[in-house]
Amino acid sequence: MSKRPMLQFVSTAKEMPLKRDADSRAHDFDEIYAEYAAEKAAEQASRCSQCGVPYCQTHCPLHNNIPDWLRLTAEGRLQEAYEMSQATNTFPEICGRICPQDRLCEGNCVIEQSGHGTVTIGAVEKYITDTAWDNGWVQPIAPREERPESVGIIGAGPGGLAAADVLRRAGVQVTVYDRHDRAGGLLTYGIPGFKLEKDVVMRRVEQLEQGGVEFVLNCNVGVDISFDAIRGKHDAVLIATGVYKSRAMQAPGVGAAGIVRAIDYLTASNRVGFGDSVAEYESGELNASGKRVVVIGGGDTAMDCVRTAIRQGAQSVKCLYRRDRANMPGSQREVQNAEEEGVEFVWLTAPNGFAGNPVEGVMVQKMRLGAPDATGRQSPEVIEGADYVEPADLVIKALGFEPEDLPTLWGETALEVTRWGTIKADFRSHETSLPGVFAVGDIVRGASLVVWAIRDGREAADSILTYLSQPAQVAAE
Ligand SMILES: Cc1cc2nc3c(=O)[nH]c(=O)nc-3n(C[C@H](O)[C@H](O)[C@H](O)COP(=O)(O)OP(=O)(O)OC[C@H]3O[C@@H](n4cnc5c(N)ncnc54)[C@H](O)[C@@H]3O)c2cc1C
Ligand code: SF4
Repeated sequence: MSKRPMLQFVSTAKEMPLKRDADSRAHDFDEIYAEYAAEKAAEQASRCSQCGVPYCQTHCPLHNNIPDWLRLTAEGRLQEAYEMSQATNTFPEICGRICPQDRLCEGNCVIEQSGHGTVTIGAVEKYITDTAWDNGWVQPIAPREERPESVGIIGAGPGGLAAADVLRRAGVQVTVYDRHDRAGGLLTYGIPGFKLEKDVVMRRVEQLEQGGVEFVLNCNVGVDISFDAIRGKHDAVLIATGVYKSRAMQAPGVGAAGIVRAIDYLTASNRVGFGDSVAEYESGELNASGKRVVVIGGGDTAMDCVRTAIRQGAQSVKCLYRRDRANMPGSQREVQNAEEEGVEFVWLTAPNGFAGNPVEGVMVQKMRLGAPDATGRQSPEVIEGADYVEPADLVIKALGFEPEDLPTLWGETALEVTRWGTIKADFRSHETSLPGVFAVGDIVRGASLVVWAIRDGREAADSILTYLSQPAQVAAE
């Protein structure tokens, strides 16, 4: 029986001391619920009314067969539940941990909608697959026959890995290129360890490696190897590079020391979690310990930064957002978690400059919500004469991400992009303007979700298999 607990079944935020180690939450639960998870999973699963109108399933991007695997879990048939769950989702235990279920499956559960509290679908999904790992039901890929065709995948995030899994199961030779030293993309270096334990990601990478997927790491396509060379080596190519250009901020003093990008801050923190020695963390540049931290932004990345800063032992953590709580893009559940951990949200505020170098404070303008714009959303307006300075030793910019200019970086102008710089790809086949080149995940959608990247990766792999079975097309390349 699994020793892994279901973290989401009870709210613990109030019991948690502030400023904890990154992974202490998981350990707390291991101790408390070590013998409890199976009963709790069955209890939750049996709450599913098998309503016959599975809105949960239609609102899951992977259309997971939720009612059926809940029924199997309630009946204690966990191995069958696992088989069913993994048939539609490459990484169920990862989605179970980090999908915004309140906006997807759980938010559309009819029990939730009738006011009785959702079935905790994500937690059950996580439990089923964690149990499968613990019991040895998750095995390396063993294709029935090897195929001669090879596919090059650029980017080892969830989109690229999901595609690698499907292609390898079909016997295709798969090579995944990534500029980082570890695979996983934002699962590894973006999302903090207290939301997604890194051993959970790494065991999936190992499973793919053991199944014959080749990883070429520390390989920045466009620098260490050309895109053209990758196309020349493989019968088809999948681009799954994500979006990494941080949105810029224009304000006097923004270049001062102590003002850092969210992605750098989170990557450093995740590296430290792996036990790496990170010079910028050691020097304090990317370490919130003992500091007055101000995070600018209201999305999920900002939430990850404020909660990481608390865990690093910040003296205080404030989050500036130019709209109010009701209008912020980040998950309300994350805001509540952050508040319970000691983060102060300063709604309706925006920075208009920075004092000192190294930074000593953020010049803050107070805002109010004005008339709705064309989309119906109220625009923030400055309240004149209400500026003040917020003291800060570390400022983290979390204003979102944009795509890098791949056609220029890769010298491939025939690769068509949208006006936002995302790659243009057919929404069904995921094929780009270049024959035999497909694209998935954030580099097509813009910053999105893990579950959408997985869906894209699986769909693109199916399209690639169709493409590879058209010999005339491959031979013509
Ligand atoms: C801080 C943060 C927290 C998030 N939290 C959540 C969450 O809780 N739940 C959720 O569902 N989503 C979350 N997301 C979004 C989610 O992580 C992404 O939508 C998802 O990872 C996109 O997958 P992807 O495969 O398209 O790209 P990525 O995961 O970004 O992977 C792309 C990979 O491509 C590699 N790469 C890029 N360019 C090159 C190149 N030129 N050569 C070689 N390799 C290259 C990168 O190194 C990276 O490994 C979060 C995002 C961030 C930034
Ligand atoms: S993949 Fe995400 S949306 Fe789908 S059932 Fe799992 S947690 Fe819900």
